[in-house]
Formats: sequence, C-alpha cells, structure tokens
Amino acid sequence: MEQVARHVWVVTSPTWLTTSTLVVDDDGACLLVDPALTPEEILALEQEVSRRGWHVAAGFSTHPHWDHVLWSAALPDVPRWATSVATDAATAEELTAQASRDLPGYRWDVIGGTTPLAPDTTEVPWTGPRAVVVPTPGHAPGHASLHLPEEGVLIAGDMLSDVEVPLLDDAPDAFEEYRHSLRRLADLDPRVVVPGHGRVAHRWVGHRRVHADERYLADLAAGTPPHDHRLADPRVRADHESQMALLSSRAGG
Ligand SMILES: [Zn+2]
Repeated sequence: MEQVARHVWVVTSPTWLTTSTLVVDDDGACLLVDPALTPEEILALEQEVSRRGWHVAAGFSTHPHWDHVLWSAALPDVPRWATSVATDAATAEELTAQASRDLPGYRWDVIGGTTPLAPDTTEVPWTGPRAVVVPTPGHAPGHASLHLPEEGVLIAGDMLSDVEVPLLDDAPDAFEEYRHSLRRLADLDPRVVVPGHGRVAHRWVGHRRVHADERYLADLAAGTPPHDHRLADPRVRADHESQMALLSSRAGG
C-alpha cells in the first residue's frame, strides 16, 4: 500500500496496473474507490484495512466498466456511490459478462449495484476528507473523477494513464466530451494524479499525461498514426485499432 498524500493510500494490482484508492479519515473511516482486481486481491485489501484498524465507511465507483464496480462480501455493505448516469448505464449481468470476457477464471462476489448520487450532488456524502465529484464523460457513460482539494489528489478514473491511451465511449460526442474532460482535470492542477490503471503521477508528470492524451486524441481526429509509447502493449494497440476503425467508419458514413 503506497501512501500518496496525508490521507490517501493506493494499492496496485499487477493485472493492467489496476489501482484501488483509500481515502482514510483521522478516525480510520475509509472511502474506498474502485476496489480491484481479483477476488483474492480485494480480500487482501479488506484484510489490510482491518489490520490497520481502519474500516470502510463508503465506496465510490468512477465509471460503469466491470473492473471499477467490484466489491466483496468481506467488505461492509455500505453505499458505493456513482453518478446516476453511471449507475443506469449497465446491468449486473452485462458487467459480469464483460468481466468473464476480459479476465476469465474468477468469480467476484459483487459486480455493479452502485448507489446513484442525487443529480445536484457535488461531493461524495461521507464525513472524511472532502471528495469533489468531477464529471468527466468521454470514456464511459457517467464517468466521474474525484478531486480531494485538501489532499491535492485527483483520482482520475480511466484517464491520465501512463499505460493506456484514451479509450472512447460509444456516444457520438465522446470525442469532444473527452477533450473537455481533460481540460477540466488539467485546470484542477492536482499535486498527485491516481489513474485507474498505471502509475501515480506527481504534478509535472500529470501535466505531461494531459498533453500525451490530447496529442493522442488530436492524432486520432486527424487520422494520423500516433507515436505513443503506450501502443507498444498489444492489448492497448488492439483497443486503439478498433476505435480508429470505428471513427473512420463514422467519418466515411
Ligand atoms: Zn474503463
């Protein structure tokens, strides 16, 4: 468990460098964001929380992709907040099907079943450090990042990664939405960026990631093959090629 700010710890799974983030109040109450990834890893996370004398008081899911809506029977049955758009975007059956396709051979206790935030909610309802919900659509319906202003931390969800390029939602305006979302995150100027997949970045590295994502999207828009080190990973390249094909079919049609 890596402490990245006074009240924030990050755990990283070896699979796709998937991160889980804990915001821990002074009394040990935790806000657990996107716990991941295998059932064993989520159980180990719960055991480490208990060992430290902490307790999970609330959850938050950044977006409705299966690897960001997991939970465990060993974790308390607390509200796991998500935007209402995210909550409505996929059923538990669809999310379970995504999981068994992407990472077969596991059985998770809970996939989906998040609690929708009221539409006018701007912060996660909990008593610990302030966690501002920042709507950042483009990657998935209802995608939201969390900004912890007192900690200087941005929990980005599936954006600002050093291992994955921006992957666009199916929505026709996803491209523009993603670009606006990147600007919104850059304007927050966080000290620490925690991506959903990849390594934690500190301020200037975070800015470099915004530029890398903007450059990738600009190349995609222009139909220019991007020179992006993240495409060396065959899995990321396959995702890149399918979204390039989708965009060019839309442009042609
Ligand atoms: Zn995702």
